[in-house]
Amino acid sequence: MMDAWRSSSFPTYESCGRMWAADHIPNEIMARDYKLGEKRTHIGAFAGTGTHRGRAYFLDELASSGTLGGAPRRNAAVEVGIVSLEEALAEGDPVYDPVTPRDDAKDAVKRMTLQAIAAINEDDHPVLVEDRLKAVLDGKVMITGTLDLYLLAQFLNDLKTGKQAPFTKYTGQIGSYVFIAEANNLPVKQAGYDFVQRVRKSAVQPAVQRKLIDIPAAKRQAASIATHITRDVAEFRRTGRRDAFLARPSSYLCRPEFCRACHKLGPKGWCPESANGGAADG
Ligand code: SF4
Repeated sequence: MMDAWRSSSFPTYESCGRMWAADHIPNEIMARDYKLGEKRTHIGAFAGTGTHRGRAYFLDELASSGTLGGAPRRNAAVEVGIVSLEEALAEGDPVYDPVTPRDDAKDAVKRMTLQAIAAINEDDHPVLVEDRLKAVLDGKVMITGTLDLYLLAQFLNDLKTGKQAPFTKYTGQIGSYVFIAEANNLPVKQAGYDFVQRVRKSAVQPAVQRKLIDIPAAKRQAASIATHITRDVAEFRRTGRRDAFLARPSSYLCRPEFCRACHKLGPKGWCPESANGGAADG
Protein backbone atom coordinates (compact mmCIF):
# COMPACT_ATOMS: atom_id res chain seq x y z
CA MET A 1 0.00 0.00 0.00
CA MET A 2 1.22 3.47 -0.86
CA ASP A 3 2.19 5.71 2.07
CA ALA A 4 0.32 9.00 2.31
CA TRP A 5 1.97 12.12 3.71
CA ARG A 6 -0.09 15.01 5.01
CA SER A 7 0.57 18.39 3.42
CA SER A 8 0.13 20.03 6.82
CA SER A 9 3.11 18.05 8.09
CA PHE A 10 5.51 19.53 5.54
CA PRO A 11 6.49 22.57 7.66
CA THR A 12 7.31 20.20 10.54
CA TYR A 13 9.54 18.13 8.27
CA GLU A 14 11.32 21.27 7.14
CA SER A 15 11.83 22.32 10.78
CA CYS A 16 13.07 18.92 11.97
CA GLY A 17 12.82 15.58 10.17
CA ARG A 18 13.23 13.63 13.41
CA MET A 19 10.26 15.43 14.95
CA TRP A 20 8.20 14.78 11.82
CA ALA A 21 8.90 11.06 12.31
CA ALA A 22 7.92 11.23 16.00
CA ASP A 23 4.58 12.72 14.98
CA HIS A 24 3.83 10.59 11.93
CA ILE A 25 5.33 7.13 12.38
CA PRO A 26 5.41 6.78 16.20
CA ASN A 27 4.36 3.13 16.15
CA GLU A 28 7.19 2.20 13.83
CA ILE A 29 9.63 4.11 16.03
CA MET A 30 8.47 2.40 19.22
CA ALA A 31 8.46 -0.98 17.46
CA ARG A 32 12.21 -0.42 17.06
CA ASP A 33 12.47 0.06 20.87
CA TYR A 34 12.98 3.81 20.78
CA LYS A 35 11.20 5.88 23.39
CA LEU A 36 8.94 8.85 22.77
CA GLY A 37 7.50 11.23 25.34
CA GLU A 38 4.08 12.78 25.40
CA LYS A 39 3.20 16.06 23.78
CA ARG A 40 0.48 18.37 25.02
CA THR A 41 -1.36 20.53 22.54
CA HIS A 42 -0.64 24.24 22.70
CA ILE A 43 -3.43 26.79 23.11
CA GLY A 44 -2.30 28.27 19.79
CA ALA A 45 -3.43 25.10 18.01
CA PHE A 46 -6.84 25.20 19.75
CA ALA A 47 -7.31 28.88 18.90
CA GLY A 48 -6.31 28.16 15.31
CA THR A 49 -8.81 25.33 14.99
CA GLY A 50 -11.58 27.52 16.41
CA THR A 51 -10.72 30.26 13.93
CA HIS A 52 -10.75 27.77 11.05
CA ARG A 53 -14.17 26.44 12.09
CA GLY A 54 -15.63 29.91 12.44
CA ARG A 55 -14.32 31.03 9.07
CA ALA A 56 -15.45 27.81 7.40
CA TYR A 57 -18.98 28.34 8.71
CA PHE A 58 -18.96 31.89 7.37
CA LEU A 59 -17.69 30.76 3.96
CA ASP A 60 -20.25 27.95 3.71
CA GLU A 61 -23.03 30.44 4.46
CA LEU A 62 -21.65 32.85 1.84
CA ALA A 63 -21.52 30.03 -0.71
CA SER A 64 -25.12 29.04 -0.10
CA SER A 65 -26.66 32.51 0.32
CA GLY A 66 -24.45 34.73 -1.87
CA THR A 67 -24.36 37.38 0.88
CA LEU A 68 -22.12 38.18 3.83
CA GLY A 69 -25.10 38.24 6.15
CA GLY A 70 -24.13 41.15 8.42
CA ALA A 71 -23.60 41.09 12.18
CA PRO A 72 -25.82 38.04 12.88
CA ARG A 73 -23.73 35.93 10.49
CA ARG A 74 -20.49 37.20 12.02
CA ASN A 75 -21.76 36.47 15.53
CA ALA A 76 -22.80 32.97 14.48
CA ALA A 77 -19.32 32.35 13.03
CA VAL A 78 -17.74 33.44 16.32
CA GLU A 79 -20.07 31.11 18.18
CA VAL A 80 -19.01 28.20 15.94
CA GLY A 81 -15.37 29.01 16.68
CA ILE A 82 -15.95 29.16 20.42
CA VAL A 83 -17.91 25.90 20.47
CA SER A 84 -14.97 24.28 18.66
CA LEU A 85 -12.62 25.65 21.32
CA GLU A 86 -14.85 24.37 24.11
CA GLU A 87 -14.99 20.92 22.54
CA ALA A 88 -11.19 20.85 22.31
CA LEU A 89 -10.84 21.99 25.93
CA ALA A 90 -13.23 19.25 27.04
CA GLU A 91 -10.88 16.71 25.44
CA GLY A 92 -7.71 17.94 27.09
CA ASP A 93 -5.96 20.80 28.83
CA PRO A 94 -3.56 22.65 26.50
CA VAL A 95 -0.32 24.45 27.31
CA TYR A 96 -1.15 28.15 27.70
CA ASP A 97 1.26 31.00 27.14
CA PRO A 98 1.45 34.66 28.20
CA VAL A 99 -0.21 35.77 24.95
CA THR A 100 -3.29 33.62 25.59
CA PRO A 101 -3.73 32.64 29.24
CA ARG A 102 -6.62 30.38 30.12
CA ASP A 103 -9.09 33.19 30.80
CA ASP A 104 -8.44 34.87 27.45
CA ALA A 105 -8.83 31.85 25.17
CA LYS A 106 -12.43 32.54 24.10
CA ASP A 107 -11.69 36.17 23.48
CA ALA A 108 -8.73 35.18 21.30
CA VAL A 109 -10.93 32.91 19.16
CA LYS A 110 -13.57 35.62 18.89
CA ARG A 111 -11.14 38.28 17.74
CA MET A 112 -9.22 35.98 15.40
CA THR A 113 -12.42 34.69 13.79
CA LEU A 114 -13.73 38.21 13.23
CA GLN A 115 -10.44 39.22 11.59
CA ALA A 116 -10.36 36.09 9.43
CA ILE A 117 -13.83 36.73 8.05
CA ALA A 118 -13.19 40.46 7.63
CA ALA A 119 -10.88 39.54 4.73
CA ILE A 120 -13.73 37.80 2.84
CA ASN A 121 -15.68 39.67 0.17
CA GLU A 122 -19.22 39.14 -0.99
CA ASP A 123 -18.08 38.38 -4.55
CA ASP A 124 -15.49 35.79 -3.49
CA HIS A 125 -17.69 32.85 -4.58
CA PRO A 126 -16.32 29.96 -2.51
CA VAL A 127 -16.36 26.70 -4.49
CA LEU A 128 -14.77 24.48 -1.88
CA VAL A 129 -14.38 25.01 1.88
CA GLU A 130 -12.31 22.74 4.16
CA ASP A 131 -12.35 19.69 1.92
CA ARG A 132 -9.98 16.80 2.46
CA LEU A 133 -8.56 15.56 -0.85
CA LYS A 134 -5.53 13.71 -2.14
CA ALA A 135 -3.11 13.46 -5.04
CA VAL A 136 -0.43 11.04 -6.18
CA LEU A 137 2.88 12.56 -7.25
CA ASP A 138 4.67 10.83 -10.13
CA GLY A 139 2.70 7.67 -9.42
CA LYS A 140 4.80 7.11 -6.28
CA VAL A 141 3.93 9.34 -3.33
CA MET A 142 0.45 10.12 -2.08
CA ILE A 143 -0.18 13.46 -0.43
CA THR A 144 -3.36 14.33 1.42
CA GLY A 145 -4.57 17.67 2.64
CA THR A 146 -7.53 19.79 3.66
CA LEU A 147 -7.98 22.69 1.27
CA ASP A 148 -9.24 25.56 3.42
CA LEU A 149 -10.70 27.57 0.55
CA TYR A 150 -10.84 27.50 -3.23
CA LEU A 151 -12.60 30.38 -4.99
CA LEU A 152 -14.32 30.53 -8.36
CA ALA A 153 -11.50 32.84 -9.50
CA GLN A 154 -9.19 29.81 -9.12
CA PHE A 155 -7.61 31.25 -5.99
CA LEU A 156 -6.42 28.72 -3.43
CA ASN A 157 -6.32 30.25 0.04
CA ASP A 158 -4.97 28.62 3.17
CA LEU A 159 -5.69 30.04 6.62
CA LYS A 160 -2.77 30.37 9.02
CA THR A 161 -2.85 31.50 12.61
CA GLY A 162 -0.05 32.04 15.07
CA LYS A 163 1.87 34.23 17.42
CA GLN A 164 4.38 35.38 14.82
CA ALA A 165 3.97 36.19 11.17
CA PRO A 166 5.25 33.31 9.07
CA PHE A 167 8.02 33.86 6.55
CA THR A 168 8.44 31.17 3.91
CA LYS A 169 7.87 28.00 5.86
CA TYR A 170 4.44 27.34 4.36
CA THR A 171 5.55 27.49 0.75
CA GLY A 172 6.00 23.73 0.39
CA GLN A 173 2.72 23.01 2.15
CA ILE A 174 0.78 25.31 -0.12
CA GLY A 175 2.60 23.92 -3.13
CA SER A 176 1.31 20.50 -2.13
CA TYR A 177 -2.22 21.91 -1.91
CA VAL A 178 -1.79 23.15 -5.49
CA PHE A 179 -0.88 19.61 -6.56
CA ILE A 180 -3.94 18.30 -4.74
CA ALA A 181 -6.27 20.91 -6.23
CA GLU A 182 -5.03 20.26 -9.76
CA ALA A 183 -5.35 16.50 -9.31
CA ASN A 184 -9.01 17.10 -8.44
CA ASN A 185 -9.78 19.25 -11.50
CA LEU A 186 -9.41 22.55 -9.67
CA PRO A 187 -6.96 24.67 -11.70
CA VAL A 188 -5.03 27.21 -9.63
CA LYS A 189 -4.19 30.69 -10.93
CA GLN A 190 -3.22 32.16 -7.57
CA ALA A 191 -2.33 30.56 -4.25
CA GLY A 192 -1.40 31.89 -0.86
CA TYR A 193 -2.48 32.23 2.70
CA ASP A 194 -4.27 34.58 5.04
CA PHE A 195 -2.41 35.01 8.31
CA VAL A 196 -4.33 35.89 11.46
CA GLN A 197 -2.12 36.78 14.37
CA ARG A 198 -2.78 35.64 17.94
CA VAL A 199 -2.07 38.61 20.19
CA ARG A 200 -2.60 39.54 23.82
CA LYS A 201 -6.08 40.63 24.82
CA SER A 202 -4.73 44.10 25.59
CA ALA A 203 -3.27 44.50 22.07
CA VAL A 204 -5.05 45.68 18.96
CA GLN A 205 -5.94 42.68 16.79
CA PRO A 206 -3.90 43.15 13.58
CA ALA A 207 -5.61 42.94 10.19
CA VAL A 208 -5.21 39.79 8.15
CA GLN A 209 -2.01 39.57 6.14
CA ARG A 210 -2.56 37.98 2.74
CA LYS A 211 0.52 36.51 1.09
CA LEU A 212 0.67 35.06 -2.39
CA ILE A 213 3.24 32.45 -3.34
CA ASP A 214 5.17 31.65 -6.51
CA ILE A 215 3.24 28.57 -7.66
CA PRO A 216 5.93 26.79 -9.75
CA ALA A 217 8.54 27.28 -6.99
CA ALA A 218 6.08 26.09 -4.33
CA LYS A 219 5.27 22.95 -6.34
CA ARG A 220 8.96 22.18 -6.74
CA GLN A 221 9.43 22.59 -2.99
CA ALA A 222 6.44 20.38 -2.23
CA ALA A 223 7.69 17.63 -4.55
CA SER A 224 11.14 17.83 -2.95
CA ILE A 225 9.74 17.55 0.60
CA ALA A 226 7.51 14.60 -0.31
CA THR A 227 10.47 12.85 -1.96
CA HIS A 228 12.73 13.46 1.04
CA ILE A 229 10.13 12.18 3.50
CA THR A 230 9.67 9.04 1.40
CA ARG A 231 13.45 8.53 1.20
CA ASP A 232 13.96 9.00 4.96
CA VAL A 233 11.11 6.67 5.89
CA ALA A 234 12.43 3.99 3.53
CA GLU A 235 15.92 4.35 5.03
CA PHE A 236 14.54 4.07 8.57
CA ARG A 237 12.51 0.99 7.67
CA ARG A 238 15.60 -0.57 6.09
CA THR A 239 18.11 0.21 8.85
CA GLY A 240 16.10 1.03 11.98
CA ARG A 241 18.48 3.96 12.54
CA ARG A 242 17.08 7.17 13.99
CA ASP A 243 19.61 9.24 12.05
CA ALA A 244 17.70 8.37 8.89
CA PHE A 245 15.85 11.53 9.93
CA LEU A 246 17.87 14.70 10.34
CA ALA A 247 17.58 16.24 13.83
CA ARG A 248 17.53 20.03 14.08
CA PRO A 249 17.84 21.04 17.75
CA SER A 250 18.19 24.65 16.56
CA SER A 251 14.56 24.53 15.47
CA TYR A 252 12.29 26.85 17.43
CA LEU A 253 10.00 23.82 17.86
CA CYS A 254 12.64 21.92 19.83
CA ARG A 255 10.73 22.17 23.09
CA PRO A 256 8.81 19.59 25.12
CA GLU A 257 5.45 21.19 24.35
CA PHE A 258 6.02 20.75 20.63
CA CYS A 259 8.14 17.62 20.24
CA ARG A 260 7.62 14.13 21.65
CA ALA A 261 11.35 13.50 21.56
CA CYS A 262 12.28 16.63 23.50
CA HIS A 263 12.27 14.91 26.89
CA LYS A 264 14.81 13.08 29.01
CA LEU A 265 14.09 9.61 27.73
CA GLY A 266 17.24 7.61 28.43
CA PRO A 267 19.60 5.83 26.04
CA LYS A 268 16.77 4.67 23.78
CA GLY A 269 15.27 8.13 23.51
CA TRP A 270 14.36 8.99 19.95
CA CYS A 271 16.52 12.09 19.87
CA PRO A 272 19.87 12.31 21.69
CA GLU A 273 20.38 15.68 19.98
CA SER A 274 17.39 17.16 21.84
CA ALA A 275 17.86 20.70 23.07
CA ASN A 276 16.23 19.51 26.31
CA GLY A 277 18.71 16.74 27.10
CA GLY A 278 17.13 13.96 25.02
CA ALA A 279 18.69 10.58 25.63
CA ALA A 280 21.58 11.98 27.65
CA ASP A 281 20.04 11.90 31.12
CA GLY A 282 18.50 8.46 31.22
S1 SF4 B 1 14.08 16.99 20.27
FE1 SF4 B 1 14.53 18.75 18.92
S2 SF4 B 1 16.03 17.97 17.45
FE2 SF4 B 1 15.10 16.21 18.45
S3 SF4 B 1 13.38 15.59 17.18
FE3 SF4 B 1 12.57 17.02 18.64
S4 SF4 B 1 12.69 19.03 17.68
FE4 SF4 B 1 14.03 17.67 16.53
